[in-house]
Amino acid sequence: MHLSLAAAFLFLLGLSYCLTLPIPHEDSDEFTTEDLQFAERYLKTHYNLRSSPAGIRKKNANSVAAKLREMQSFFGLEVTGILDEETYELMQQPRCGVPDVGEYNFFPRKLKWSQNNLTYRIVNYTRDLTRAEVDRAFKKAFKVWSEVTPLNFTRIRSGTADIMISFGTKEHGDFYPFDGPSGLLAHAFPPGPNYGGDAHFDDDETWSTDSRGYNLFLVAAHEFGHSLGLEHSRDPGALMFPIYTYTGNTGFLLPDDDVQGIQALYGAGDRDPNPKHPKTPEKCDENLSLDAITELRGEMVIFKDRFFWRLHPQMVDAELVLIKSFWPELPNKIDAAYENPMKDHVFIFRGKKFWALNGYDIVEGYPKKIYELGFPREMKTIDGAVHIKDTGKTLFFTGDKYWSYDEENQVMEKGYPRLIEEEFPGIGNRVDAVYQKNGYIYFFNGPLQFQYSIWSKRIVRVLKTNSMFWC
Ligand SMILES: [Zn+2]
Ligand SMILES: [Zn+2]
Repeated sequence: MHLSLAAAFLFLLGLSYCLTLPIPHEDSDEFTTEDLQFAERYLKTHYNLRSSPAGIRKKNANSVAAKLREMQSFFGLEVTGILDEETYELMQQPRCGVPDVGEYNFFPRKLKWSQNNLTYRIVNYTRDLTRAEVDRAFKKAFKVWSEVTPLNFTRIRSGTADIMISFGTKEHGDFYPFDGPSGLLAHAFPPGPNYGGDAHFDDDETWSTDSRGYNLFLVAAHEFGHSLGLEHSRDPGALMFPIYTYTGNTGFLLPDDDVQGIQALYGAGDRDPNPKHPKTPEKCDENLSLDAITELRGEMVIFKDRFFWRLHPQMVDAELVLIKSFWPELPNKIDAAYENPMKDHVFIFRGKKFWALNGYDIVEGYPKKIYELGFPREMKTIDGAVHIKDTGKTLFFTGDKYWSYDEENQVMEKGYPRLIEEEFPGIGNRVDAVYQKNGYIYFFNGPLQFQYSIWSKRIVRVLKTNSMFWC
């Protein structure tokens, strides 16, 4: 009995010893051969990795590493040249079939139409939508581009148009086959004769006019960008970013990056009904202000407009992503966020509503109304929220006041609201965003952050807001 226990113990020791040995990092052992073949196909399709019978595991390891580095750099991941979990996950996201790297594209750079009046023809239809819905989606997608340029698009119903639009599956006549559901969604050819300008949509996808499956308008607007001569953008906020994200159903605004791109080719038009095009925030902008900050399972999550930055504790480079690409149900801008590590929940506030997140999932029963926490019914918004681990209290900031919420008993504490400047003098009379770490509360107010010691009850440092990003 003792012996076998000892043997088992030794066996366990041996096993854990083996597992802690550094893995030779030419390739990772956690991926199956199938995974590696998938990754190789991805690099061939989108980064022009040359075919090699040896595959991703052996001879062409160097060029695979180079292509992985290219891809990681394109998407703003840590550039290692090694297939890691994060890179692999990104490869699995649904996307456009046009390659990401210009020089390796099907076509040379800077192609554009020489005339501003272009025609399009819808050659066939998907059965997922009515014909009228398909017509409307394409019309709206062309309008995205005609609003910001001198371009005009006219639909023709027979003959050859500049832009021929069709649905197809698998091999569909151009040697760039589709791949069944998800994966590649669509592709389009740059301006030119014959195939030039044509846009193809994978009919093995489920197309929709809303958030289900893939939204035809959003994918079409992206593809028509290619039809007009645009390449993929590295800006995660751009329409021309290669990965699909459902960004909502109403009030689509063409992001600034795409406007710059298309106007560099065709110039600006004179009929832009909404000249405010959303810009992607720059982390090192010295006037950077923030919307909300929270921890999420050890990572910092920093919200600004439609985006958040993920900051891993051991990494310097923050990754910028669209809120909707993680949590499609959340609004496009948020007011406040905090983590309750005891519940493993992150709470997100926007206007009078709030959501509880458990990792990628929204907890059932949410969104709820903020008055359910004990705020007055007329209260419209919360500016910032922070959970103090040592006291089990959550502080909510709104206007020049703050409240204290008892998480254990789930009640708002008596004697609140109080004035911010009485309890936290020197931080100003409003809070944009706030978080807590190692005994300090960090208050953000415009381009400044105030490091406040909970223990000595005073400000110990004033920093630039963007110092979070090592700018
Ligand atoms: Zn594309
Ligand atoms: Zn095609």
